[in-house]
Amino acid sequence: MKLLVAPGFNFSCSRCGHCCNSYPVPLTALDLERLQAVEGGQPLPVRRLTLEPGLSQSFKAVLLKGEDGFCNYFEGSAGASRCLLQDQAKPQMCRLFPFTFLHAPDGVLSGLSFSSTAVCLNLGEPLASQTATLDEMLALFEDLNPGLKDKTRAEFGRLSLAADLPLSFELYLPLQKTMEEELWQIMGRKQRAIALQALALLFGNLREMSDNYAGSTPQAGEAWFDLALIETYLGSFFNAGAEGSLSLEEQITTQLTKFSQERHLNLPLTARLQSAALNLPASVLLEDLFARFACMRLFSRLYFGPGFSGLSLTVGLGHLFLMLLVGYLRVKLDYMEALENGIEMSEEALFETAVRRIRQVEGKWTSLRYSSREAINMLELAFLDGLRPLRLLDLAL
Ligand code: SF4
Repeated sequence: MKLLVAPGFNFSCSRCGHCCNSYPVPLTALDLERLQAVEGGQPLPVRRLTLEPGLSQSFKAVLLKGEDGFCNYFEGSAGASRCLLQDQAKPQMCRLFPFTFLHAPDGVLSGLSFSSTAVCLNLGEPLASQTATLDEMLALFEDLNPGLKDKTRAEFGRLSLAADLPLSFELYLPLQKTMEEELWQIMGRKQRAIALQALALLFGNLREMSDNYAGSTPQAGEAWFDLALIETYLGSFFNAGAEGSLSLEEQITTQLTKFSQERHLNLPLTARLQSAALNLPASVLLEDLFARFACMRLFSRLYFGPGFSGLSLTVGLGHLFLMLLVGYLRVKLDYMEALENGIEMSEEALFETAVRRIRQVEGKWTSLRYSSREAINMLELAFLDGLRPLRLLDLAL
């Protein structure tokens, strides 16, 4: 099967140690066996998860972190970190990170996670020249996800352009290619919020096409819902204290339902963004980071259908816009807060903040799954309005 690789992306591990200390590490039966061999008769630093819902059946346990929050097998410091397990017993998920794959009828799409520092900074060897590594990672991915490739390929036969509008793979492919080409042209540009502007226009075109196809008149959404949407996603994605026992999907749907019932909106974050007559300084580094994030998600098709929650192509694109927008707005809020504290961020500091926020968006988005009909319908309704992203752009510009 042909391996499809995004042009312009690089990756070599920068040994920053971030992934070792920020994310849970799920373990397979093979990982446990190898770890036990290393540890001899000692008890393993793991929590067993035989019936944990939401985890692949391949995963049987999770590595426990030490008291300092660091992985027990992590050694060193940023830029010089080392895994003590290395070739003997390094868990398969750790080996795979930050690679990901999606099996489509026209080939296997290779993707990279922006949770990785090196990916955010575009450090290392061009991905296109790492054929042997990609083949090895793909084999590992397939081992870790038995049966997934056939399931994903089959799901490409059930695409939709928008709710209740089936889309054949043959008609989908040129649409995807056009969007990739359009989006790719913005890389390396300095214009403010360039990736968001491009996505908003692409979404508008796709929405118009969906409306024409369905023979329906365009639906004008209500403006108050623009702000409710942003407030909800900003709160759910960046407020560490708000999680409780609810999943991310439940938090989002509960909050949006509350807004739609009460209409007395308490919108502290969006109100701050609206009241501040302030722009982020133009930065080619920052704009390129957001553009690469959008391009990678679009290229690897991890934003709709089999790649994300079975969303339709149109709504998946609207949702991709929303994910990028909340990351961008969070950076803007960070910049405003620094100014209020008398700190003028340098371009480097601003970029570091943007990397941190993009990673948070990536991490949350990867763990977010819209599985309830209610949540999917909510998004379909939110993105019936072809102008919503263009209106929301005002907050970023
Ligand atoms: S097992 Fe090794 S690679 Fe995995 S998180 Fe721990 S130190 Fe990092």
